[in-house]
Order: sequence, then structure tokens, then C-alpha cells
Amino acid sequence: MTTVDGRHTIDREAERIAYKPPEIRHDTQGDLSTEERVEHAMHHFVKNFNTQTASYLDGCLHCGMCADACHYHVRTDDPRYTPIWKIELFKQAYKREVGPFAFFYRLFGFKKKVTIKQLEEWQHLLYDSCTVCGRCSLVCPMGIDIAGMVSMARHGMFKAGLIPHELHETAKKAAETGSPLGVTAEKFEDRLEWMADEHDVEIPVDVEQADVLACMSSIEIQKYPESMAATARILNAAGESWTFRTDGFEATNFGMLSGNTEWQKEATLKLINAAVKIGAKTVVLPECGHAYMAMRWMGANMYGKPLPFKVLHISEYLADALNAGKIKVKKVDKSVTYHDPCQVSRRGGATKAARDVLKHLGVDHREMKYGGDYNWCCGGGGGVVTIKRADELRHRVFKLKMDQVEATEADELLSSCANCRQSFDDSQEHFGWKYKMGSLMEMVAENLEEDNS
Ligand code: SF4
Ligand code: SF4
Repeated sequence: MTTVDGRHTIDREAERIAYKPPEIRHDTQGDLSTEERVEHAMHHFVKNFNTQTASYLDGCLHCGMCADACHYHVRTDDPRYTPIWKIELFKQAYKREVGPFAFFYRLFGFKKKVTIKQLEEWQHLLYDSCTVCGRCSLVCPMGIDIAGMVSMARHGMFKAGLIPHELHETAKKAAETGSPLGVTAEKFEDRLEWMADEHDVEIPVDVEQADVLACMSSIEIQKYPESMAATARILNAAGESWTFRTDGFEATNFGMLSGNTEWQKEATLKLINAAVKIGAKTVVLPECGHAYMAMRWMGANMYGKPLPFKVLHISEYLADALNAGKIKVKKVDKSVTYHDPCQVSRRGGATKAARDVLKHLGVDHREMKYGGDYNWCCGGGGGVVTIKRADELRHRVFKLKMDQVEATEADELLSSCANCRQSFDDSQEHFGWKYKMGSLMEMVAENLEEDNS
């Protein structure tokens, strides 16, 4: 691959020769028998089939375009990482159990029954080597949403007790305590108080009636607490009637990432109920990609009816507030490149918002090659950053991102997702890389004009 100013090089050919496929490991949960695991997986695979999945599974042309879109395949040339192959078990179940020729497939044994060995092997393909980034879905000429089907296949894997241990534990902790990092309501309040003192900013908590409900992700609360102060400074400057709520603050959704729909629903309803209780007209989601996907695009399904409020990712809120003149910012004399979180831009549809914000900040915005909807993933989405055994592969994939960023020669690297930020921080440390990711929202908060009139 190209040399980028001699600072970082990916020698594809040398790496291809040196590539050793990772040892495939799998974890199990619960005490189901082998037969029960297969039965549960199959039952839940089949449960997800509908006319849309049928058209996807019957519509593949085997053109291979998705292979060149997937960072795992591009960085390894390993055919197992071809996106369509990752859902092969799902396809096998469809063809054999419900497809139009299922009877013949079974009768003549054209499609074998899914085995436990395959399910164990596919744990690596559905979790360790898929960030559900949707780049494959975007390029598919048949419009097949492979990323969406990976998420559906994860439901079956969860029910079979066949998901990576760390992801299971994180999702379980979120279900039990309300937060994947164990941030209780008391802890959240403590940290808000700390940030209010430290930054001399008013942070309303548990207001009974407010137009805007602001939420956070545990990663921000624990690792990037300045995000809480930045949110408060922006919403205060915009003159909003707003609040954080201790009974509904956690926007991440590990139920969704793990494949457990019940946990996903519980987490979503907690936020919805808090918003309904205070009569919120808008829920502003934090810098977290999958939180946006969970509420903006799946929230109403979990609620069972249309959401009674508007859902905005913080970058959308910022763009709206700046465009409407509700907040104003000083010009920032820097060159900046922006990493699009997959679930906000490509999969979420909010690609333009961050660019509007950067325009208001007056920075020299240097778009990455394949920026915007075609951006390469950070490698940590879909819960992958929590899976320890996937680190080596994740770091290998991250080199694509390093080249993409370095080629811009920008002074600063920004994003609008704390999960991406965490994944960049980890890889930055691993490679001793010079770029440190910053937050778009924090740049806005730091450069607010005092007088917004
Ligand atoms: S969703 Fe992303 S990581 Fe998963 S198969 Fe598609 S391109 Fe690869
Ligand atoms: S790009 Fe679409 S049609 Fe082509 S192989 Fe992949 S899933 Fe099939």
C-alpha cells in the first residue's frame, strides 16, 4: 500500500506473506447441551427471517464487492473475512429451513444442518471480526444489509450461549446496574458535581419538567468526564430548558451489541421513560455512535410506537444550534481531520452535521480520502473493543485508519464518538502513534462566544 510521507507504511505484500490467521477461540455461557445450543441458535436465526432478509439472502450475486469494503478482509486477504461469508450460517439456516426450496435442500442434503462446530467457529466471524460498521452494506450493488444481518445472527448466538465472554459480562453488567462500567446514579451525580465545580458550570440534574433530556455514555462519564461539562456549557449557552436525569442517563446499549434484545429493550425504555416523564421534546444523545443507532433507528421499535420526542445526536444538535445562531463560536486557527463514527455517519445518516460544525469553527477541515460515508471504521465498534482476544486483529486493521489520518497532515484529529475515541486511544498507545483523538463537542464548548446575542 502507499507510503504516507515516510511516516507510516503498510507493505501489503510483505504483510500478506507474514499473515498468520488468528487462533479461533470461542466462549460459552450457561449449561445448555450441545444439541440445545444448536436448537436455540437455529430457532432464533429462523425467527428473524422475513421477506426482507429473504430478498437479501436470495439476492447475492457473489460479485465480491463487499470483500474489498471490509477492513478485515482488506488487511488480511483472508477469505473467511469476506462479509457475505460471515453470514453463511444464517444463509444455511434460511435455505434449509424456510427458503422456497427448503424441502429439496433438506431432502437432497444440499444444505447441511448447522453444527455446533460451525457455530463455535462463527463466533469469531460474527463478533471478533465484525464491527457492524456497514461499509459492506453501503457498497453492495444489491443493497444487501450484511451488517444488519450480522446483528440478527448475533441474536441466535446470544440465545445459544455462544458469545465472547467479555462482551457477555459487559452487557450483563449493563443490564444489572444500568451501566456497562457500573456507573450508578449516585456515581453519576458525584461526577456531575465534580465537573460543575471544576469547570464552574451549572449542571441541572433531575429537573422535573424540561424540553431537552441530555444523556451520556459510561465511557465519557468514566474516561472523558469533560464531556459532561462541555454538554452543560453548550446547552446553557443555547438557553435550553434542559436536564440530566439520574433515572435515565446511560445512552450506550450493550444489549444491542451482544445480541440480547431483552436487555436492549430495557436500556432503551429507561431513557424513553425518563424523557416522557419530564415532557422532553428532544433527547440529545452523547458522542456515542451505537447509542445513536439504538435510539434514533431502533428506539421506536423497542417502544412499540412512534417516539414522542425528537432524537438528535449531539453533532446534529450542535449543527442545528450553530446554523440557527443559538450558539456562536470563535474561529479556530487549526487544520483538523474528522473521523466519522460508522453508526452516526454511514449507518446513521448524520454525516453532514459534523461538517457544518467544522465550518462554523472556521478550521481548515481536511477530509480524509474515503471520508464521510466511506470512512474506514476505527476497528473497535460492534463491541469488538471489549474483546481481548481480538486485539491483535483489531490493531492490524487500525493501520488502515492510521494511513487515512496521516495522509491529511492535519494538526488535530477529532471525532464524535467516545467508543471510537477509546479505540483510538488504545491503538495510539499500542503503536506509540502521534495523533491523539479529540472531541468535536469539546472543541465547540472550548470556543463558545460568551455573548450569543
Ligand atoms: S459490517 Fe464492517 S466489519 Fe462487518 S463485515 Fe461489513 S465491512 Fe466488515
Ligand atoms: S457485494 Fe452484495 S451481491 Fe456482491 S457478494 Fe457481497 S453481498 Fe453479495
